[in-house]
Amino acid sequence: MTNDILNSLLKEYEKKKLQAEQDAENRKDTLYKKVPELANIEEELNSSAINMAKNILMNDNYNIRKEEFENKIALLKLKKEQILKDLNIPSNYLKPNYECNICQDTGYITDENYKTSMCSCLKQKLLDYSFNKSNMSNLYKENFSTFNPNIFSDEVDVAKYKFNISPRKNILNIKDKCMEFVNNFDNPNYKNLLFVGNTGLR
Ligand SMILES: [Zn+2]
Repeated sequence: MTNDILNSLLKEYEKKKLQAEQDAENRKDTLYKKVPELANIEEELNSSAINMAKNILMNDNYNIRKEEFENKIALLKLKKEQILKDLNIPSNYLKPNYECNICQDTGYITDENYKTSMCSCLKQKLLDYSFNKSNMSNLYKENFSTFNPNIFSDEVDVAKYKFNISPRKNILNIKDKCMEFVNNFDNPNYKNLLFVGNTGLR
C-alpha cells in the first residue's frame, strides 16, 4: 500500500519536474528569439564547454588552456547576466521553476558521500497522505470548540430515543466523558474510550 502511494507520488514528481523544465525551455526559446545575442552567447558557452571537455580528455595542454577556458566562460556568463539585467529579467527566469529547490522535484537528495535519501518534501507528502486518511485533517473544523449541542433535540422521548434523558443531555454527557478522557490522557490508570456504531458514523 505504502509502495503504491510512493510510486504514484513519484510519478507526480516526474511529471511536475518535466513540466517545470519544459516551461523553462519555452521561456528560453521565446526570449532567445527576441534577443538573438543571448542565443549567440548560449551557443558560445556550449562550444566552450565542449572544447574544455575535449581538452581534458585529450590532455592536450589542458593546464595551460584551463584558465583561458574558464575566463572565457566566466566572461560569457557575465555578459548574459548583464543583458538580462538590462531587460529587467530576474536571473532565475531561465531556470526551471521547481516546486522544491532542494531535490529539484526528484523527491530524493544525494549528499557529499553519494548517499541518497528521501527529501523532506516527499516525506511530508507521505505524512499528509496518512494524516488525511486518518480523518484527522478535519480537526480544525471538527473539534470541541466548534461542538454544537443545539443540533440535538432537547425532547425526552423514551419510546423514540430509548433513553430517559434528551439526546442533547446525552451528547453533553458524552462530551464531558471525552473531555475527561483528554484531560487524563497521560494518566496510565485512566480507562480508554470505545466508540461503537454503524460504519460511516463519526
Ligand atoms: Zn524536495
